[in-house]
Amino acid sequence: MLFDPRPKMDRKELFDREEEIESLKKLADKPLVLLLGIRRIGKSSILRVALNELGNGIYIDARKLYFDSGGWITNDVLIRTFEKSLNSLKGEFKEKIIDALKYIRGVKLFGVDVRFKREVLLSEVLEALNDVGVVIGIDEAQYLRFYGSKGGKEFLALLAYSYDNLRNVHFILTGSEVGLLHDFIGIDNYESPLYGRVCEELTIVPFSRELSKEFLRQGFEEVSIQISEDDIEKAVEILDGIPGWLVDFGNEYIKIKSLEKALEGVMKRAEDFLKGELKELEKRSLRYVLILKAIARGYDRWELIKDYLERNSKRVPNSRLAELLRNLEKMSWITPELKDGRKKYKIIDPVVERVLRR
Ligand code: ADP
Ligand code: MG
Repeated sequence: MLFDPRPKMDRKELFDREEEIESLKKLADKPLVLLLGIRRIGKSSILRVALNELGNGIYIDARKLYFDSGGWITNDVLIRTFEKSLNSLKGEFKEKIIDALKYIRGVKLFGVDVRFKREVLLSEVLEALNDVGVVIGIDEAQYLRFYGSKGGKEFLALLAYSYDNLRNVHFILTGSEVGLLHDFIGIDNYESPLYGRVCEELTIVPFSRELSKEFLRQGFEEVSIQISEDDIEKAVEILDGIPGWLVDFGNEYIKIKSLEKALEGVMKRAEDFLKGELKELEKRSLRYVLILKAIARGYDRWELIKDYLERNSKRVPNSRLAELLRNLEKMSWITPELKDGRKKYKIIDPVVERVLRR
């Protein structure tokens, strides 16, 4: 069902994106691929469909890892998660993996289940998987910077080892916080274990207006709900081509069959979704959310943002403001644009912008 709110696993459930899935599957024979795009654009769905179709995919959610381990990803949690991912595999692929793991120290096999002992080295596991040939998809991989005590460096070292030595182990990393993921990987940073490697990138962009309308039409047709072209037009006008919000709209409209109420419902859902994200931001600095609010309300130039901040909080030095803005850009919340020769900031996602204005 197109309006199913969970990430899609099967191509049949996915609207369009054929090209993206094909490209990703082709790229999966490279050692390292980044799958980029803003929140709710469909990265997890595209990744999962591609991994399923490849038949040798292993999926790990780094964001869940981060939350499950209370903000600090330990080796133990990582190993347990890896274990769960392997145990959730099916069929011949799983049998091959079990077979390949047989001979490593620190692995116990219970019939069709794998148990890693504490001391198992992930590099050894990857070596064994190299004999099978696997594609490891790590969702929201920028969260791996919270692995270990060195900003995730140990994990990057593992990636670098795999990159250089294991021809049949391929990694696809997704990230909503595009700049953060780039920084974390650090292929241009000589201090990064991955320095100098090449990584392929695939960026997922919003649907065009026409495709967004077609998405809604097909979604409503699937559940036999009538909606006017006019309402579809207006919904897309506001929600733009971000499938996550279109799905929310579909579900709201099915419930209440009124354009205004359904749009209001989407904003409510977006607000709930954002609450968690904004709380994470506030943990790092209270000013982040203030800056986002300023920009959403039209205080979108340097002086206006600074003025808004200082009215609502305390004085902020220019260097600090520059850093905060740069970080918000890296986390894909805002983007600078040139208007009439002046630099302005814009909230990337129009739904997020609306919610922040409330
Ligand atoms: P991301 O990982 O980029 O945040 P998700 O894959 O979780 O995005 O997708 C967000 C929501 O949008 C989910 O409800 C998902 O089912 C839906 N969705 C995304 N892309 C599509 C698509 N092409 N067709 C149908 N639903 C989609
Ligand atoms: Mg996702």
